[in-house]
Amino acid sequence: MDNKIIDGKLISDQIKKEIAAEVADMIDHGKPAPHLAAVIVGEDGASQTYVSSKEKACHSVGMTSSVYRLPAKTTEQELLDTVKFLNEDPEIDGYIIQLPLPKHIDEDKVINAIKPSKDVDGFTSINVGRLQLGLPCFVPATPNGIMELIKRSGIDTVGKDVVVLGRSNIVGTPMAILMSRKGIDSTVTLCHSRTKNLPEICRRADILVAAIGKQGFVTADMVKPGAVVIDVGIHRIEDPNSPKGYKILGDVDYDEVYKVASKITPVPGGVGPMTIVSLLQNTLKAAKGKIYPKE
Ligand code: NAP
Repeated sequence: MDNKIIDGKLISDQIKKEIAAEVADMIDHGKPAPHLAAVIVGEDGASQTYVSSKEKACHSVGMTSSVYRLPAKTTEQELLDTVKFLNEDPEIDGYIIQLPLPKHIDEDKVINAIKPSKDVDGFTSINVGRLQLGLPCFVPATPNGIMELIKRSGIDTVGKDVVVLGRSNIVGTPMAILMSRKGIDSTVTLCHSRTKNLPEICRRADILVAAIGKQGFVTADMVKPGAVVIDVGIHRIEDPNSPKGYKILGDVDYDEVYKVASKITPVPGGVGPMTIVSLLQNTLKAAKGKIYPKE
């Protein structure tokens, strides 16, 4: 790949090797392999795909994984019972509840029943609050993966203007917090659907992070020449010319923006592979008691 492209696949493979070496070392020292569990409720196709790729990733670094598949009609109480069981099971280091949950289940209630020390997605109020305060915590996988991409690509962040498009709890908001941290030291503007003069604000960005869920939204005229562009969007678009019948595109009009950016993440192969690897990093931290002491 040319050096304008931030190769998330390559960087994530490197991190996987580092994790695999740490896991092997734990096993050599008589410790169990880190164990990540996932709970999936219902038959949602995308959720099934995400959970199988997380399982595969776990195995590729020598971690143990288990998946709890519950029927769509599972009650909130039954799911809370599963959460309690996972909280108490000493063999499980961390676990995730695959979202979205069926409508009859209160997502917030279930997520906040997860023990913070096992919340490797970083979605509980405790971990979100600790992130805000700059305390040790599990950082949500996608923003954590983007921070790794930025660091490992040698992108200078100090005093830079960063514009984050999208303020979701899982991507945009934590991204804005992380980029404004001491040590990273960027000046952040967080945009959303009510932001005025969006193209003008985007054009000020040295680093532009697009996480709005609208395919091809960021066009070349919204990007300052020489800016770094991070595309978080994932859109499956029908494509009869592709062997799979579809292609994956991002929130950025890649072909045009590529011409003006100094660096850009492709979709696929940019932020996506980093998200899964971040979950593995969090699981390793959970197993080693690096964020919360092991009980
Ligand atoms: P989300 O929860 O739907 O949030 C979208 C955000 O974009 C909201 O804050 C919304 O503003 C804002 N927005 C929507 N339209 C806008 C517009 N026209 N102008 C400015 N802001 C606008 O999305 P998300 O969960 O953060 O995900 C964003 C994208 O990233 C999706 O394509 C998703 O599939 C992808 N994603 C990828 C990964 C990965 O691993 N690569 C991980 C997670 C998500 P309001 O708050 O005002 O509504």
